[in-house]
Amino acid sequence: LVHFDQVVKRYGDHTVLDHLDFEVQRGKHVTLIGPSGSGKTTILRLLMTLEKVSGGVIWVDGEPLTHRRTPGGKLKSADEKHLRQVRKKIGMVFQQFNLFPNMKVLQNIIEAPVNVLGMDKDEAAERARGLLELVGLSDKIDAHPTQLSGGQQQRVAIARALAMRPEILLLDEVTSALDPELVAGVLDLLRDIARSTDITMLCVTHEMGFARDISDTVMMFNEGRVIESGTPEKIFTAPEHERTRDFLGAIL
Ligand code: ATP
Repeated sequence: LVHFDQVVKRYGDHTVLDHLDFEVQRGKHVTLIGPSGSGKTTILRLLMTLEKVSGGVIWVDGEPLTHRRTPGGKLKSADEKHLRQVRKKIGMVFQQFNLFPNMKVLQNIIEAPVNVLGMDKDEAAERARGLLELVGLSDKIDAHPTQLSGGQQQRVAIARALAMRPEILLLDEVTSALDPELVAGVLDLLRDIARSTDITMLCVTHEMGFARDISDTVMMFNEGRVIESGTPEKIFTAPEHERTRDFLGAIL
C-alpha cells in the first residue's frame, strides 16, 4: 500500500533520508524505531504531505503521492489539488495532540469530514458520537480541549483521525507528551484499534512493549536508512545489527 521508492530528504546540505526504500503492505502495522534524529518523524511528515521529498517517489495504493502523472505517463511534482486528494487516505496523530483549541470536541472531530470529504453534518456528528464512544469520551462531546487531560486530548485526536476513515493511520510518538499514568490507557486504545480494524498503521514509538504487541514489522532506522527490519520477535530478541543491539540495550 505504501512504497518509499529511493526517497531522499534534505534540509539544506543535511541529508535526513538517504535513498530510503521500503514497502508496507495493506493492513499491516509497522513500527519505526531508532535513535533521535534518525529521520522517523520526517517519514511520517512526508507521507502526510507536510513536507516535500528532495528526491525519489512515495507511492500510495499504486499512485504517486509526491507526484502526479502527466497524460504522457511521466511524473511531475504534485500540485496542491493532487495532494488534497491523496491526503484523504491518510490520518495522523501527533505527539502534541494538535486539536483546534477554539473548537469543542465534536467540532474538532467533524471539521475535516464535513469540509474536506463533504460529509453531511448530521451524519458526521453521528459518526463522531460513535468514535467518542470507542475512545471512551462520550461525556466530553461538548468540552473544549483545554478542559481535558492530555490523555483525553490524545483520545480525541485519535477519534479525529479515524473520522476521516483513513486507509493509513500515522502515529508519531503519541504518548511521549503524556503523564506516565495516562500512557497505558492510550496504548490500550491503540491496541484495540489495531486488533479490531483493518487499517494500515505506521507508528513511531519509544514504547517497545507496545511495538512488540501491535507490529507485524519493526524497522530500525539509523542516519536516514533502514538498517534492519523484521518481526518484533526477531528485532527484540535476536537483532543482527550492532547498532540495533546498542539502541535496544540503552532503552530497554
Ligand atoms: P526524534 O525521535 O527525536 O523525533 P526522528 O528520528 O523522528 O527523531 P526527525 O524528526 O525525522 O528525527 O529529524 C531528522 C533530522 O532532520 C534531525 O536531524 C532534524 O534536526 C532534521 N530536521 C527535521 N525537520 C527539520 C526542518 N524543518 N529543518 C531542518 N532540519 C530538520
